[in-house]
Amino acid sequence: MNNESIDKASKELWENAKAIYILSLRNLEEKSQAERNLGMMITSVANEGKVFKIYTSTQFAADLIRREYLNKLKGSFLVAGAPEDIDIEVVYDKNAKPSLILPEAIHPSPMPVQQSATVSTFVSTQPLNEDYTFEEFVRGPSNSFALSAAEGVVKNPGKTGYNPLFIHGGTGLGKTHLMQSIGNELHKRNPAMAICYLTAETFLNEYVNSLQNGQLDAFRKKYRSLDMLLIDDVQFFQKGKNVQEEFFNTFNSLRDNHKQIVMTSDVAPKNLPSIEERLISRFEGGMVQEVESPSYETRLAILKKKAEAYDTTVPNSAFEFIADNIKSHVRAMEGALGKVIIYINSFPQTLLNNQILANILKDFIEKEQSLRKLTVLEIQQACAKKYSVTMADILSHERTQSIVTPRQLAMYIARKYTSKGLQEIADAFGKKHATVINGVKTITQRLDNEADLKVDLEEILSSFGYRLSDAMD
Ligand code: ADP
Ligand code: MG
Repeated sequence: MNNESIDKASKELWENAKAIYILSLRNLEEKSQAERNLGMMITSVANEGKVFKIYTSTQFAADLIRREYLNKLKGSFLVAGAPEDIDIEVVYDKNAKPSLILPEAIHPSPMPVQQSATVSTFVSTQPLNEDYTFEEFVRGPSNSFALSAAEGVVKNPGKTGYNPLFIHGGTGLGKTHLMQSIGNELHKRNPAMAICYLTAETFLNEYVNSLQNGQLDAFRKKYRSLDMLLIDDVQFFQKGKNVQEEFFNTFNSLRDNHKQIVMTSDVAPKNLPSIEERLISRFEGGMVQEVESPSYETRLAILKKKAEAYDTTVPNSAFEFIADNIKSHVRAMEGALGKVIIYINSFPQTLLNNQILANILKDFIEKEQSLRKLTVLEIQQACAKKYSVTMADILSHERTQSIVTPRQLAMYIARKYTSKGLQEIADAFGKKHATVINGVKTITQRLDNEADLKVDLEEILSSFGYRLSDAMD
């Protein structure tokens, strides 16, 4: 091998080992932290015989990677195909120039037709993930509206009706992926567009820093001169009134100039209690779309799509097992798939039956089940409180609508968000089976037509740390 191909092979090995490692992490926070750290802190890698060197340009990064990741990475290197006796070293080199983060990895190359466009000198505050594209996003009933809205923004950025686009839904359901797909696609179509992606948390931090450093003007100028602002996880703005004010002004300035704004949040605008009313109404002023948990078929399709990125053949039964057992988050499904792939690569001779799969995915399955610990009493109390009625009302046979709604809603939540049986639920309400079934049916129908009821449900669920999308099939 010549130097260049050694270099390429080292990078590939590193990318694979890193991906396997991140995939194997269970906790979402850990995953994104590892992704950030291992993505941004490492300047280059080199495979020197038996020693694999990971370079960083700061002592801090070297220490952190040694401390937090070095031991854990070793297994992933083996799974990625490194020789058994490989030694991994973290090297601090203050002269190291970044070579891992290639500019074209951040900005996909423009389409030929667009070559005459002036290339924007603006660089997004946080890089877009080049894998988050429309091509990689699987459409299903749970995300179809949000996806269409995102496609609409690409066709008509800044157009009234689509501006702002607000996408909400539970963690790991594809909000960031969709939002970045808009950024990646528009960048491809028009490289001159000043597109900026960042999380609300980063916006807040930058705002605070610019205040401290007396650079507020520069901060404002930067965000108000964009062509498109993609701002992720705006629920974070609940942390501070001042940043809300700042964002409000940025928002208005962009909107007034017909510049596109896309936001995501884990709950609907109405359910952001600590965000000022005037901002909420701005958020709702364009298009609000929800992503929900994917159906079984969509889960299967997503898993198959994700598996294409690996050289490993995953048996259908494994896809089905994952789709059957992990329903709440796509990110958890991906983690589970990663674990299965690691297993297949490590033990290619073993037949993957459901028992083995259950074993490999034990942690994921337990996590999924721990979502189901709510008691019916807690649900009844929360519904009574939300509608200002008493527990006695909930348990009574009173038929006035103001009492029937919270009672039936409680039945609905107990049925859809816990694994309790019908008998147990009926007993908790002192009612017959049929009454519970009827209550659940009524709420299901009303939810299709009554946005307010859905918002109430979302609010009650969120008081338990649940999302709409946590419903069981
Ligand atoms: P969120 O921002 O809602 O928490 P992400 O956008 O980070 O979720 O998605 C989590 C993971 O799930 C990502 O790797 C993303 O690619 C994947 N994902 C979610 N929905 C889909 C989908 N419909 N098709 C393909 N991948 C998806
Ligand atoms: Mg996200």
